[in-house]
Amino acid sequence: MSKEEKKMRKHIEAHANRELRKALSKARAKVSKPPRERMDVRSAEFEADNPPLSKTNRTASVRQSVASPTAQGFVAETGPGFCDVISSGQRVRCRFTDEVAIGDQVLFSPERRRIEEIQPRRTVLSRTDPHNPRIQRVIAANVDIVVNVVSLKTPPLHPGLIDRYLIAIGKSGAAPLICVNKVDLQASPEELDPMRPYQDVGIPVLFCSAATGAGLAELSEALAGKLCVFAGHSGVGKSSLLNALDPQLEIATGSVSSANEKGRHTTTSSALYRLPNGATVIDTPGIREFGLWDVTKDDLRNYYQEFASHSCAFSDCTHTHEPDCGVKAAVAAGAIPKPRYESYARIRASLET
Ligand code: GDP
Ligand code: ZN
Repeated sequence: MSKEEKKMRKHIEAHANRELRKALSKARAKVSKPPRERMDVRSAEFEADNPPLSKTNRTASVRQSVASPTAQGFVAETGPGFCDVISSGQRVRCRFTDEVAIGDQVLFSPERRRIEEIQPRRTVLSRTDPHNPRIQRVIAANVDIVVNVVSLKTPPLHPGLIDRYLIAIGKSGAAPLICVNKVDLQASPEELDPMRPYQDVGIPVLFCSAATGAGLAELSEALAGKLCVFAGHSGVGKSSLLNALDPQLEIATGSVSSANEKGRHTTTSSALYRLPNGATVIDTPGIREFGLWDVTKDDLRNYYQEFASHSCAFSDCTHTHEPDCGVKAAVAAGAIPKPRYESYARIRASLET
């Protein structure tokens, strides 16, 4: 080996050793680096809105934090394949694989922007998928009050739809409230008669007008501090009522025939608003057809409280074809409102099982 070659080899060896040392020290530093701390995104405001995790869920969240830190949040909006989570006053758009609903309390990874876990739901307002009755569509989760907004005119009162909502609300575990809007259009006192059966069974009914402000103080009081859903036919005035409760919202209205409403039907997106009285209101897109989720023909009678005090010859009487039916006798005697019984029979016939 020439002198030149020897010099070159020595140089190469020295360089290789240097590189090896560098790589070793880098690897060591990586091993001894302290684990990343779990991200704590809670604030006092958030704590107040979001109850602490249950013991089992806390364990799950700690376990997940090893792989990717998780934070707790509240789902404020859902869309195709994404949802917006509010956490510590910030809105984070996440992907999700499970069915996440507006109102859900979730554990999510702020880093991966992914929902990791949906917390157990207190209440679930559902309906069937309009295209496939075997698929459940969750309208909202963890809701305290579902406000079925109806209007006296344009569109006219549609008691059959009210009954469907009340059954779904009864199933959800949330409290019902019927808000009859547009009472400024009332021409005669009899126009409010269809609401009496609901009042008689103790369902709160408020008569309001977003246009004149009538009944809005009572509506505001009923919703204060609660998580609420506004649900009902499009055009009944849901957005107008929200604007009247908080003029700063400036939600677009007059959607009866607008292209905007059509778009909302196809996207089935809901919007969430915080009102000055501490209420959080989820405004749902107008629903014309309301398929009942997981209600059987046999269950149905339990959602008509006015039937309970009338006894029939058969303990499992369906109140349709049986003899000596106390419910049918009560309808004939005027003790049970005929429209309520008719809606029961109609809805029962529409259920598959
Ligand atoms: P939504 O589809 O349920 O959100 O209904 P909107 O709030 O968009 O209202 C539909 C239409 O009804 C609009 O033209 C409103 O101006 C009108 N409207 C809403 N509330 C009232 C009310 O209390 N009285 C009257 N006369 N019209 C109303
Ligand atoms: Zn009967």
